[in-house]
Amino acid sequence: MADKVNELKYFYGNITREDAEDYLRKSGMTDGLYLLRQSRNYLGGFALSVAYNREVYHYTIEREMNGTFIIAGGKSHDSPVEVCEYHSQESDGLVCLLRKPCNRPKGVEPKTGPFEDLKEHMIREYVKQTWRLHGDALEHAIISQKPQLEKLIATTAHEKMPWFHGDISRDESESRLLQGQRINGKFLLRQRDSNGSFALGLIHEGKVLHYRIDKDKTGKLSIPDGKKFDTLWQLVEHYSYKPDGLLRVLTEACPRPDLEMGSFDIVRPPVPSHHPRSGATGGIISRFKSFTFPKPGIKKTQADIGSRSRSTAKLNPYERPEKTRNKNVSPEAMPMETEVYESPYADPEEMKPKTVHLDREQLILEKGELGSGNFGTVRKGIYCMTKSKKPVAVKILKNEDNDPAVKEEMLREANVMQQLDNPYIVRMIGICEAENLMLVMELAELGPLHKFLQKNMQITTKNITELVHQVSLGMKYLEENNFVHRDLAARNVLLVTQHYAKISDFGLSKALTVEENYYKAKGHGKWPVKWYAPECLNYFRFSSKSDVWSFGVLMWEAFSFGQKPYKGMKGNEVIQMIERGERMEAPHACPPEMYELMRLCWTYNSEQRPGFTPVELKLRGFYYDI
Ligand code: AMP
Repeated sequence: MADKVNELKYFYGNITREDAEDYLRKSGMTDGLYLLRQSRNYLGGFALSVAYNREVYHYTIEREMNGTFIIAGGKSHDSPVEVCEYHSQESDGLVCLLRKPCNRPKGVEPKTGPFEDLKEHMIREYVKQTWRLHGDALEHAIISQKPQLEKLIATTAHEKMPWFHGDISRDESESRLLQGQRINGKFLLRQRDSNGSFALGLIHEGKVLHYRIDKDKTGKLSIPDGKKFDTLWQLVEHYSYKPDGLLRVLTEACPRPDLEMGSFDIVRPPVPSHHPRSGATGGIISRFKSFTFPKPGIKKTQADIGSRSRSTAKLNPYERPEKTRNKNVSPEAMPMETEVYESPYADPEEMKPKTVHLDREQLILEKGELGSGNFGTVRKGIYCMTKSKKPVAVKILKNEDNDPAVKEEMLREANVMQQLDNPYIVRMIGICEAENLMLVMELAELGPLHKFLQKNMQITTKNITELVHQVSLGMKYLEENNFVHRDLAARNVLLVTQHYAKISDFGLSKALTVEENYYKAKGHGKWPVKWYAPECLNYFRFSSKSDVWSFGVLMWEAFSFGQKPYKGMKGNEVIQMIERGERMEAPHACPPEMYELMRLCWTYNSEQRPGFTPVELKLRGFYYDI
């Protein structure tokens, strides 16, 4: 959504109301001249500025819980653009019809908000420091969880701001403000109670003023009778531009004593004494040159220890989720919060064995089956590592099956899995040759995707998109590492949680050689025909592009809540249907963007079919939008 709005010529991004008035004035102020800008107080909201009778009128376009947009008291629309289109036909409460967009002058790009600039950096630091991730694991966490992380940062970012002092008393806040230079506008925020009420302390002519900040029923924050905001940092940003009812603007953060020096490198621009800070100098957030999160476990300073501070313990942002045992993982947990996000050997205290062979004594098999396949059963187990005990899934070869071909097949699967290490792929922990041949893998306790969806029909489109996007990330990794899966289907996607999918079953997978980007099968086997691209069936040719075709079928299965593809049809009927140029219809209530992507995956000619890089990007874009 944000990207599409950014392309609008009359969208100016995060500019102030004064800047908007300036632009309209410079463009002639004709009645109905309008522009769109980002709301500075409502998360995800917009503001519409309209010229009429030489005046400018501003309307907030709020983003509702269900993702629609509305001007208070008006009709809901799917996008801010539709709000503008509607009001160019109907004034419906506006001062006049929207007549002419006021386009951005040449060279002017939509302005990113100060928070936008910092957000990327903050998300990265947050993930790095909270879950101690690096490299690809860090990148994948950011890509797959961006919407959740943005929300987390937006709603908890104030806890990491130097001006947020947490649960301290009014007296303590005064003594902190009066320490050092008593600059007009020096301020801090503190928590008043656990119901979401805060207080702003502000120096004015050497004295401390206190303003209450209350949270209303809808969660909006405001100083009594003042403007409402979604977050504290937006409130602070606003009052650092203009007093708007306060005795003066906020000029300088009174830094929290537990912050490491240098965490916030603040540029202090000259503030005209006669006038509230003008928009040009920027607000308090844009004045942070750099932003580093306070390190976990910071020692309190002497001043802090001696003070009457009730507690600053709540301020440590790193008391957040430690990796949890699988059985305790909450249904809403992010992938990084589970035990299987990184390889068990990513922990430097866990030595990776020199061979893939595991010691039988370190493996405990539990009763009960997780599932079964051609080779035998899959059981839950515990693998005792140096430091920790890991819940695992163990694929056990049937004893009576002395067929060396089956054993070889399992070892081939183990050989492929051993070479893969990605958060969205089930990792092999090792093989164990004892009473049976056993393949020990990471546990994905919620089982195959199609069965989960059949039992959980209430799952949202957003949730399905999230899971399918994760599969595309895992497939992109396989593609980059020259592996073809050859059996990609919803039955082979296993769920760790409702929000975390992993690709499994590498029984048919092949590593490609440097010379050839496809694998040529010697003959037709017991193949999942309904998931196979035409070139697999016609020429026995398998590549990442044929995996893309299967991925399209997997998407269809996911958006139809685990239904069988080409229901009631035989394999050769499906082949004929594809050859005729026909494809499956869109599942009921499937977003058109997702069906369009399935159709793209089912491009007949493999050379014209997209690879996983563009497929992942499409899914990412759609996932972020919804
Ligand atoms: P497979 O033959 O690899 O498809 O495995 C057969 C069944 O065993 C799957 O459909 C799952 O129900 C279960 N299973 C296999 N691997 C795992 C795993 N790593 N974690 C949990 N269940 C698994």
